[in-house]
Amino acid sequence: MNSCIFCAIASGQTGAEILFEDEQCAAFRDMNPQAPTHILVIPKRHISSLNDLGQAPHTLMHHLFLTVQNLAESLGLSRTGYRVVINTGADGGQTVFHLHLHLLGGRSMQWPPG
Ligand code: AMP
Repeated sequence: MNSCIFCAIASGQTGAEILFEDEQCAAFRDMNPQAPTHILVIPKRHISSLNDLGQAPHTLMHHLFLTVQNLAESLGLSRTGYRVVINTGADGGQTVFHLHLHLLGGRSMQWPPG
C-alpha cells in the first residue's frame, strides 16, 4: 500500500528506530511515546486493522504476540509488567490503519483506559 506510513517503515523507505525485525514483522519505537517504553509491533504485510485479520495466515497473531513477549523480556519489563494494546477503528482510537500492537511499559498503567 503506497501511502501507508507503516508499510514505508517496514520496507525501509521511512526511518524508524527498529528494535527487531524478521521476515514477518518489525518492531520500532513509537514517535510519540505514552510510557517510558512504547514500542509498536507490526506485520510487514499490509493489514488495515484487526477487522481484517481474516486475510492473514492463522499463525500471524501468535508471531506478533511472541515478538511482543520477547521484547518485553529483553527490555526488562516481564517482572514489573506491561500493557499490550490494539486500537481498532475510530472509537478504538486507531489513527494509523496498518495493524499494530502497542507495547507499553516502564510505568504503572491505569484502568479503565480513558
Ligand atoms: P494508533 O493510534 O493505535 O493507530 O497508533 C498509531 C501510533 O503510531 C501512534 O502512537 C503514533 O505516535 C505512532 N506513529 C505514527 N507515525 C509514526 C512513525 N512514523 N514512527 C513511529 N511511530 C509513529
